[in-house]
Amino acid sequence: WEKISVRSHSKDELYQMEQTFNEMIDHLRESFNKQEQFVSDASHELKTPIAIVKSYAQLLERRGLERPEIFQESIGAIETEADRMQKLVEQLLFLAKSKNESVLTEVNIVKLCLDVVTVFNGAYNRSIRVNRKEQEEILVKANKDQLKQVVYSLIDNACKYSEAEIIVTISVVDKNVAIAIQDFGPGISKEEQAKIFDRFYRVDKARNRDNGGTGLGLSIAKSIVEAHKGKLTVSSNIAEGSTFTVILPIVIDH
Ligand code: ADP
Repeated sequence: WEKISVRSHSKDELYQMEQTFNEMIDHLRESFNKQEQFVSDASHELKTPIAIVKSYAQLLERRGLERPEIFQESIGAIETEADRMQKLVEQLLFLAKSKNESVLTEVNIVKLCLDVVTVFNGAYNRSIRVNRKEQEEILVKANKDQLKQVVYSLIDNACKYSEAEIIVTISVVDKNVAIAIQDFGPGISKEEQAKIFDRFYRVDKARNRDNGGTGLGLSIAKSIVEAHKGKLTVSSNIAEGSTFTVILPIVIDH
């Protein structure tokens, strides 16, 4: 026993150890609770599309053959819900493995934004203005695909929640680049602004179901930006519109 009883500790040392131990336990408990909440939210979100698919399948079985309009409606709804589940599962998988180390390269933020905007201006016929030209270069160290997803999600939201023009402004401030995505949509109240970055949070659940929202886009965007030592913020006024700003450190010497 003498051999394994290492050495005696002073009262202060024991108190310190107890403190550290308690902090560790609190931290573990908190992350366990968060994990549990996440799994329960995720299953809840998946239950709704599954229930809808089931009820339309039953409707098809009962009336689909004799009523072509019921057939059409049911097939359409099943497809929409399957798309939603697909998106949700992809986002959940992304969140589950986002702790993986990612490959960082030098990425030109101007080109990345212009590429994303081209997709929206072309395929979705939107009017999005960017204050930069293709030849300009502002470099950041980043995982290009993840960063593209951030810009894509923010522009996608601006398009979903507003009809009018969208303005993308890229500016260099000190050692950072700021990418501001501004829309002139309904805006978000101060109270909601504090919650929209939470997983699965949607301001208007019913309306967002119609436009395919999952409530995960902003929380994923925020976690990507923070993993790049950056910040994602929102400033918005009801009935005036919203501006989401991504701030990232730039590559100074290369
Ligand atoms: P969703 O998939 O529902 O769009 P997000 O995480 O991307 O989920 O956004 C969370 C919520 O924040 C949305 O449901 C919406 O209510 C609100 N929101 C996000 N972007 C905008 C915007 N540009 N204008 C108004 N509301 C927005």
